[in-house]
Amino acid sequence: MTESSPIIQLGNPILRQKATWVDNIHDESVQQLIDDLIATVAKANGVGIAAPQIAEQKRLFIMASRPNSRYPNAPEMEPTATINPRIVAHSTEVVKGWEGCLSIPGIRGLVPRYQAIEVEYTDRNGKLQKQEFTDFVARIFQHEYDHLDGIVFVDRLENTLDMITEQEYQNRVVNKT
Ligand code: ZN
Repeated sequence: MTESSPIIQLGNPILRQKATWVDNIHDESVQQLIDDLIATVAKANGVGIAAPQIAEQKRLFIMASRPNSRYPNAPEMEPTATINPRIVAHSTEVVKGWEGCLSIPGIRGLVPRYQAIEVEYTDRNGKLQKQEFTDFVARIFQHEYDHLDGIVFVDRLENTLDMITEQEYQNRVVNKT
């Protein structure tokens, strides 16, 4: 059965560990983990979630961009399981954009990320995918990819002045658009 899982929070040492390669994609445990992550990110109004956020140290994350109360302008995409991902090339252009994290509730930050990336990953059917992502979806990918290496978005802030509360974000960014 698929149900949402508790999301571990900043301070939990698991969030800071490096996740390990997934080599048994067809195992029921991995397929179940993917379904649990998809249910968890939907329930939390997220646009992405990485396996370490539910205490599973595996190189696997879900991208699930869609407009919701936390990201009203997010593009719509089917929840996509991204397994053993790699960033094989990236733009020189770096752009700053607002991010939050289900493991760091109440905080938003203006995070620099590559504007475009070329990636490879294995999908949930075991097929190798090569894709290019830009803008917000590229941002989701880079944010979730960082989780697999124990990095969270606040580590990437250039300045603590780029960090604001969720309430301030709602006033300043969401209500203005
Ligand atoms: Zn996150």
